[in-house]
Amino acid sequence: NADPAACLIGWPAAHSRSPIIHKYWLKQFGIAGDYRIEAVEPAAFADFIGSLAARGYRGANVTIPHKEQALALSTPDARARAVGAANTLYFANGGLHSTNTDVEGFIGNLDASAPDWNADGEAVVLGAGGSARAVVFGLIERGVARIHLVNRSRDRAQALAQPYGERVRVAAWDDVGAILPKAGLVVNTTSLGMKGQPSLPFDVSALRADAAVADLVYVPLETALLRAAKARGLRTADGLGMLLHQAVRGFELWFGKRPQVTPELRALVEADLTSA
Ligand code: NDP
Repeated sequence: NADPAACLIGWPAAHSRSPIIHKYWLKQFGIAGDYRIEAVEPAAFADFIGSLAARGYRGANVTIPHKEQALALSTPDARARAVGAANTLYFANGGLHSTNTDVEGFIGNLDASAPDWNADGEAVVLGAGGSARAVVFGLIERGVARIHLVNRSRDRAQALAQPYGERVRVAAWDDVGAILPKAGLVVNTTSLGMKGQPSLPFDVSALRADAAVADLVYVPLETALLRAAKARGLRTADGLGMLLHQAVRGFELWFGKRPQVTPELRALVEADLTSA
């Protein structure tokens, strides 16, 4: 089969929205291609990506538990290196390269949802896990002057902040009240607020009227944090928007066209999320 294809490699085979997204764009561009799910055990991962091209793939998305192995087995760009994990593999100049599209997904969605967000002010990032690494790198790349990083486990926040020097400061939950009057952006990268998890203990009433609030959580689509921010009239960017925007770069790298995140695509994925 000579039609161009890409896949998502995970273990076990995850239920993912990526096939909906990429098949929508393939159809939109009239490309007779495919996007498949591949369940690959960790021990078989290196062999699998070694045979990616022979299997007819232009590249792949990589998810749990393969993101660190993907980084080690490819030539990563600055984003994948900074995040410490690769989620997208592609071929260039005869070699296998990788990137982390969560960086572009977060910033692309923020730009689309809150176009005049305050990029040269201060930001508060809640959480210091894998997704926080992408958010912090993206904000620094965009020129945010200072990030206050707040996490339950302080040492994890310190490890994330360390390479950025003064621009990323570790703060305690108790300090947040004092920081908020200066913050133009608040981002939740913790899993708090996800279906089945406690809500995020965060009061939006102290935020400036021109602040923007982003939440990476996308189940439910509207977290208590975003609902409260909208009720205050603040601009918001949600996790589904980020999920859609992070897929743009992979599609472009594999299929050579830069796709758009349309309301129709959003509705398709929203329907899948709410029926799950
Ligand atoms: P990680 O497991 O790497 O990090 C989880 C974070 O949540 C850590 O900061 C952790 O703190 C914090 N946390 C978890 N439980 C609690 C709690 N009870 N109290 C306080 N803090 C808590 O996860 P990821 O960074 O990969 O993902 C985080 C969220 O972002 C998930 O909901 C995920 O679905 C979403 N996400 C969305 C994406 C999108 O495209 N929209 C992309 C990637 C992720 P500690 O370090 O102290 O454990």
